[in-house]
Amino acid sequence: MKILPAACLVVLVLALAGCQTAGVGPDQATTFFNEVAYRSSPGGHPVSLAARTTEAYRQAKLRRWESDLVLHLGGAAVPDLRAHGRRVMGDLAALAGLGLTETDDAEAANFVILFEDRQQFLAGVAERASCYAHIRARGGVLHHVEIHVGLRNEGLLKHCLSHEILHGFGLVHTNALPSAVNYAYWVDLPTRWDRLAVRTLYDRRLTVDMDRIEGLAIAHDILTETMDDD
Ligand SMILES: [Zn+2]
Repeated sequence: MKILPAACLVVLVLALAGCQTAGVGPDQATTFFNEVAYRSSPGGHPVSLAARTTEAYRQAKLRRWESDLVLHLGGAAVPDLRAHGRRVMGDLAALAGLGLTETDDAEAANFVILFEDRQQFLAGVAERASCYAHIRARGGVLHHVEIHVGLRNEGLLKHCLSHEILHGFGLVHTNALPSAVNYAYWVDLPTRWDRLAVRTLYDRRLTVDMDRIEGLAIAHDILTETMDDD
């Protein structure tokens, strides 16, 4: 059997990856939105059919910012990562229609990113994470986010930071499409789907008091309208 040169394999893999999401329409984008914005996929695992019939599932609400963001970057001086954080924050804030300023005063900020010289954080009872976000919300409205990035995990830090920033904008995990909050994709930057989800989540036609059924119908309209001009 003839062995393909490595370069051909790379081209083949890229071609397949390109095909994977080329045919995605508003229905799949809405399924993605349901997972990331309405938390139907905790930890990236789909919710069971039985759970989907409960009132609590139907009543799930969106979570998002209603105020402008004041960013503080603190901890270790890591110019590359700080630039990455600013880039992702700037991109997502613009998509969300939120103002974004930066302050040296951590107390004056509502979105804090801290770079720490450590490997892991204890994120839950039995869970360790190389970065995590502590998110505070009231009635579906986010009001304070603190992201910790452990600097000893080389190679994944940009992904880690993008992942936590997306949490900080109100998105949770998914396994529906390529995304920085999908554990199957170790991308450095938010994907097209992440950006569409953020733009949809912050569209003024959606409000944080709408339940899942009402909100998803509107999200589908928004995605149908905006998908092509992305
Ligand atoms: Zn996460």
